Amino acid sequence: MEQVKITFLGTANAVPTEKRNHTAILVEKADERILIDCGEGTQRQFKFSGNNPVKLTRLLITHWHGDHVLGIPGLFQTLAMSGYNKTLRIHGPPNTAHNIQLMERIFKDFKIIAEVKENSGIVFENSNFKIEALPMNHGTPTYAYSITYKDKRRLKKSKLKKYNLPNSPILKELQEGKDIVWNGKKIKSKDISYLEKGRKVAVILDTAFNENAVKIALNSDILIAEATFAKEEKQKAAEYKHLTAWDAAKIAKKAKVKKLILTHLSQRYEHNPSIIEKEARKIFKNTKLVKDLDVISL
Ligand SMILES: [Zn+2]
Ligand SMILES: [Zn+2]
Repeated sequence: MEQVKITFLGTANAVPTEKRNHTAILVEKADERILIDCGEGTQRQFKFSGNNPVKLTRLLITHWHGDHVLGIPGLFQTLAMSGYNKTLRIHGPPNTAHNIQLMERIFKDFKIIAEVKENSGIVFENSNFKIEALPMNHGTPTYAYSITYKDKRRLKKSKLKKYNLPNSPILKELQEGKDIVWNGKKIKSKDISYLEKGRKVAVILDTAFNENAVKIALNSDILIAEATFAKEEKQKAAEYKHLTAWDAAKIAKKAKVKKLILTHLSQRYEHNPSIIEKEARKIFKNTKLVKDLDVISL
């Protein structure tokens, strides 16, 4: 089965620390490599994690606060110098196209081919997966995203051999769930194929608690959420429009997700990050706080 691999390239809030770099999350399945946010220093985190940014296909930007986007000019410069010849699909909140154009004007030699979109709702869909964006509440236009990989019918190789089926359009029909006749024999799709269950990953970075957060996370296999503060700092969380660990767990519970991943920690928890995890677990047990370069597969 093709896995979804998630690499946490950076897990800090506003100021990076010794242990935590600014936010960037890499989500990969097959040839599709999606980077969510690109904080300062993301290029080196790519190196440390053994990933190559030239393989990127998409960049999803949650919002234009520095800790989420300061790595973009450097990343683009490297892509341009590496002869990046794909179209990078960029999605972000309103003003994203304008901001990217500004960057291109300032750093003239990093021109890469990019297609920028700013709409919300279902923002991309093909037969393999779809991406959804919903507005959050963070004082500046902000999106949370979900990536839903669809159920896929896969053919069993051993059975193809058994029936001596050649590589031809009939395989496509079987894969689409249709029954066929081959050498005078009826072959049922369900007998020679199996259903690979789809998976959903939701990413909610900076925001105050809001109902769209529950909506975008609904029934996710993994919800990645910011937990900048513990509940004891809830005044600060309200002032800066961030989630507490408590809020993140509440969203996970309401949205009936399978697993909650916490990231985007305030530097005040550098030496005692477990406070954040423990607090969330009181409401939502299957919670994990990630650190830089952690990898999760599902
Ligand atoms: Zn942030
Ligand atoms: Zn922010």
